Amino acid sequence: MKRWLWMAMAVVVLMMLSACAGGPAARGDKLRVVATTTIVGDVVAQVGGDVIALTVLLPAGADPHTFDPSPQDMAKVADADIIFANGAGLEAFLERLLENAGGDAEVIHVSEGLTFIEPEHHEAEPVGDEHHHEGVDPHTWTDPNNVLRWVDNIEAALVRRDPAHAAVYRENAEAYRAQLRDLDAWVREQVATIPPENRKLVTDHETFAYFAQRYGFEQIGAVVPGYSTAAQPSARDLADLEDRIRAYDVKAVFVGSTVNPALAQRVAEDTDTTLVFLYTGSLTAPGGEADSYLRYVRYNVGAIVEGLK
Ligand SMILES: [Zn+2]
Repeated sequence: MKRWLWMAMAVVVLMMLSACAGGPAARGDKLRVVATTTIVGDVVAQVGGDVIALTVLLPAGADPHTFDPSPQDMAKVADADIIFANGAGLEAFLERLLENAGGDAEVIHVSEGLTFIEPEHHEAEPVGDEHHHEGVDPHTWTDPNNVLRWVDNIEAALVRRDPAHAAVYRENAEAYRAQLRDLDAWVREQVATIPPENRKLVTDHETFAYFAQRYGFEQIGAVVPGYSTAAQPSARDLADLEDRIRAYDVKAVFVGSTVNPALAQRVAEDTDTTLVFLYTGSLTAPGGEADSYLRYVRYNVGAIVEGLK
């Protein structure tokens, strides 16, 4: 190979490395913040505004339960000052990623301090089944009131790590908390339009328990019986679910954006219910119909109202 070509390649590699690490010139003196999911990332962005340098690990549409980080993700984590994760067991990949990446980032679980929902044990299910070993329900954000706590946790961590911008973080957090309270009021109005006997949810995996608890829905079942998308339902699980759907006269089956809809579709067809699409573990890419947490909740509640009317 010619000498100039080697030199050109070396320059390209150096540029890639400095782009990857951010480089002190590129990132200025901003606090280097990593968020795991697009939902955590949006809420962190609302509080941090433009005084932080924020990187979101998961791309739009990725399933947080089964996400497999790349070497580039490792570099982002190694370079971070602070990492915001949902916690409650959502990010199964995180512990290993932190171990392998090294670095000295502080990890904040935004769901810290919430009362988590525990799995229900149905006596019909054999003990020792895979989904009996999981922990608490990690989908805390399906109740906007829980996201108020996220904002408190994010605000406290940013103020502590970057006190020079404390006033900015406090102002941003207060403004966003007001939007979350408005969102909660709007959800209540919307839910009130659904006949009470129709407020029953069947979802692709057990995603909406916090929402159901807050707004008075009954969770009848899930296609994948567990808090993660990683489990596989047995033929018996599916038959039981279809029996429950018929027994409770459920109107619709809701399927999330980050899973293969085939099984949920089959259940909906078998039970003659409507299959309704929701966003679950991820926002859409910017410009999409659910590209912020507020728009995500509005989209989902709109779809739930439409499906259960
Ligand atoms: Zn999930």
